[in-house]
Amino acid sequence: MAIEDYNSKQKPTWCPGCGNYAIWMSIKAALDELGIPPHKVLIVYGIGCSGNMFNNINVYGWHALHGRALPVAIGAKLANKDLTVIAVAGDGDGLGEGMGHFIHALRGNVDITYLIHENKVFGLTAGQSAPTSMKGFVSKSTPEGVIEDPTNAVSLALTAGGEFVARGYAGKPEQLKNLIKQGIQHKGFSFVDILQPCIAFNKVNTYQYYNDRVYDLQAENHQAEDFDKAFIKAEEWGAKIPTGLFYQAEGGTREDNLIKESDEKDNLTFEHKVEKRNLERIIKNYSTN
Ligand code: SF4
Repeated sequence: MAIEDYNSKQKPTWCPGCGNYAIWMSIKAALDELGIPPHKVLIVYGIGCSGNMFNNINVYGWHALHGRALPVAIGAKLANKDLTVIAVAGDGDGLGEGMGHFIHALRGNVDITYLIHENKVFGLTAGQSAPTSMKGFVSKSTPEGVIEDPTNAVSLALTAGGEFVARGYAGKPEQLKNLIKQGIQHKGFSFVDILQPCIAFNKVNTYQYYNDRVYDLQAENHQAEDFDKAFIKAEEWGAKIPTGLFYQAEGGTREDNLIKESDEKDNLTFEHKVEKRNLERIIKNYSTN
């Protein structure tokens, strides 16, 4: 395997310098280093500049509706547990339209990896404020500046029960690749928030802005099993911005728990149970038509 094996024939059309290029490279490098061949990977995308990555990676892909990458990704994983499933969304997509799915995906803990490109603006629609836009951010939709506090995806993921919660930065692709690898290897739902400069429409959260502020939690000996400390770090945003793995727990996936439940109840495996349920539904449908 080589990184080139994950390239499609289409060249990306993102603005030159967009943080999406580094995220694209980091995903491919993570898959390559984990030795997962393209035919064993599904990436489901939402709508936005991040979703345009659909055209540029040679793995199975599904371009979902706006805000709906997660339910498609979860359904695919439950149908084929041998597939490595990744969902990719922008922050407008995933934390605006898709917010409800995010909360319930964290609770559900199905074994997929969710990457949010956090550029703090709607890029594809040319520069409206997003749920993550900082207070005072002036955009086409907020000419007087955003008046609300921004959504903090990392804090939200922790409070909603996330068992793998990390933050990367497109300007540190080596760290980002390693976080994506760890997320894929984690058993259960893994979430990586990715700081991604939008050079066209966000003149506040630029590469320079992040380069001056980001630091690596693991370089400061942060212990990722400590939930309380993870939450304190998640709330830090200002002169210093933490990146790295905030929190990781070993709770077991939803699939594991269902298998355990099935075994305990009637000695059926999860696959048997799904098969039995499907059969019952099919029989019911046909018998009423
Ligand atoms: S509009 Fe922003 S997010 Fe979209 S491709 Fe250009 S720089 Fe990237």
